[in-house]
Amino acid sequence: MRARQHYETDDQAFPAEAYSVRQCPGVAFYVLGWETAPDEDTEWSGMEERTGRVVAVMIGDDFKHSLDPADVTPLAREAYCGVCGQVGCAHDGLDRERYREAQELKEEIAVQERRLKECLVLAHGCRRGYVSANYRAEARQCVVRIRTMREKLKNEFADVEG
Ligand SMILES: [Zn+2]
Repeated sequence: MRARQHYETDDQAFPAEAYSVRQCPGVAFYVLGWETAPDEDTEWSGMEERTGRVVAVMIGDDFKHSLDPADVTPLAREAYCGVCGQVGCAHDGLDRERYREAQELKEEIAVQERRLKECLVLAHGCRRGYVSANYRAEARQCVVRIRTMREKLKNEFADVEG
């Protein structure tokens, strides 16, 4: 179905780079945002109302499709081709093995960042000096691990980390 021309972006609702659409499983889509339509106040308010549907385009195409959000699911980056948009095609030159390694590194960085925050909260919340010192020591280790992994990501995975 052709979408209305207007939409509202929403990075929270659509954080993934590309999406799979139930009616068209062979091709990856970019989600542009929530479809909007004029209502009786639009003329003076300039604001439109969300229709509850999603506006998306196929990779490599600019036709705007109006889709039910239930039919739209996030697609892993390595699952589709960034050039032609076909699911299963790898001619875009992305090294999928290295891409996965980089993703794992990023996930591990996120784990360490969460633990770092926890340790700092625990260190501040504890009155017993030696317990608090233990959490600070662990927090310091987290900082070192995060720094090392960030450097590795920057130095060794720059090509797959766009
Ligand atoms: Zn391709």
